[in-house]
Amino acid sequence: MSENNLDSLYTCIDASRDDLINLTRELVAIPTLNPPGDCYLEICEYLQRRLAASGFETKLVRGEGTPGDSDKYPRWNLLARHSGSRKGECVHFNSHHDVVDVGAGWSTDPFAGELVGDRLFGRGTCDMKGGLAASIIAAENFIRLNPGYAGHIEISATADEESGGFGGVAYLAHKGYFSPDRVQHVIIPEPLNKDRICLGHRGVWWAEIETHGHIAHGSMPFLGDCAVRHMNAVIAEMERSLFPALQLKRTDMPVVPEGAKQSTLNINSVHGGQQEAAADYNGLPSPVVPDSCRMMIDRRYLMEESLQEVKQEMLDVLETVKSNRQNFNYDIRDVHEVLPTMAEQTAPVVQAVSTAIEDILGKQPEYVVSPGTYDQKHIDRIGQLKNCIAYGPGILDLAHQPDEYVNVSDMLDSAKVMGHTLSNLLVTR
Ligand SMILES: [Zn+2]
Repeated sequence: MSENNLDSLYTCIDASRDDLINLTRELVAIPTLNPPGDCYLEICEYLQRRLAASGFETKLVRGEGTPGDSDKYPRWNLLARHSGSRKGECVHFNSHHDVVDVGAGWSTDPFAGELVGDRLFGRGTCDMKGGLAASIIAAENFIRLNPGYAGHIEISATADEESGGFGGVAYLAHKGYFSPDRVQHVIIPEPLNKDRICLGHRGVWWAEIETHGHIAHGSMPFLGDCAVRHMNAVIAEMERSLFPALQLKRTDMPVVPEGAKQSTLNINSVHGGQQEAAADYNGLPSPVVPDSCRMMIDRRYLMEESLQEVKQEMLDVLETVKSNRQNFNYDIRDVHEVLPTMAEQTAPVVQAVSTAIEDILGKQPEYVVSPGTYDQKHIDRIGQLKNCIAYGPGILDLAHQPDEYVNVSDMLDSAKVMGHTLSNLLVTR
């Protein structure tokens, strides 16, 4: 694509500023809260009308039978595909349409999309309806200027990323929508900052550990066996041997922020003994020795570690406690696993976005890896598609916060990067 042509693309995107703002606002006004999974059909139909009018073929796909899917809260996804007049590859922009709970502490209406200066406020502006809108503006302008382009452009808006993506990208990947013979390049416009390319993410292992005891009257604890004290011994051993060991494991993956460049473990919850009383119950608890204590751990691991090694470390902790402690019995149950993933810096989509960032922002992009996971995991593992990155407007730290916002200028810049990327992959290749 000639310099001239790129310049007119940038001019057209700048001229779409009001359209971009309105589109983002209208997406934010549809409260796709997850949980429970509200208004998924509504947002998919809204996008269907918009993209059909721009010449896309569209399709609604329900993640039937996936976690959370019900007649009341169906897991709807939208897929849209546009084809150029010549043969070529397919670039797919994938955005999740769900947003997290609003929470307290807002000074603006979370669904109004209030514009203050350059900032557009609202739940999902940053994560990630602003990115979705930017990709639509980029694709529409690119198509208008290059009707004879080679290949295909796809835009999807998918369910449930915030709760694991099973009714969204995972379901679509199982159905073949992300197979490499259909899609060659994927960009996920998650809010990673407009000058950063996110190559992938760390791995995840969630597990539930349960210690067992023996119930007895609380006035005679010597007749029972306290499962909470057993769990305390597990935590003490974790403090002694596991946490220091994790701190020493450093990765070559460019994970941000700095603290996540090592293995980490969070104790998500510990529950022992009786359940906490309901808010409307004002009686006393009964005196009972807890016979069970459960702990949920959230272990994030590195490319350099294997999942088997990660699990073995925890088993070593439990076995050490067992050998030192009378009547110690435990169970451990896997809850959730995600392998780490990272695109190569030499992958065509990485190169194309990198060139575009240099052209538009006048600087080299920063390559990063996310501390947590996002839908790239399903595209990689189920779709077997490695040529996938996250790139989009918005400041990552604002995601899920009160007074979440996205800068309009950042949306415009990243729409230009996306448009340039399309030129790079679908015109000059
Ligand atoms: Zn997100």
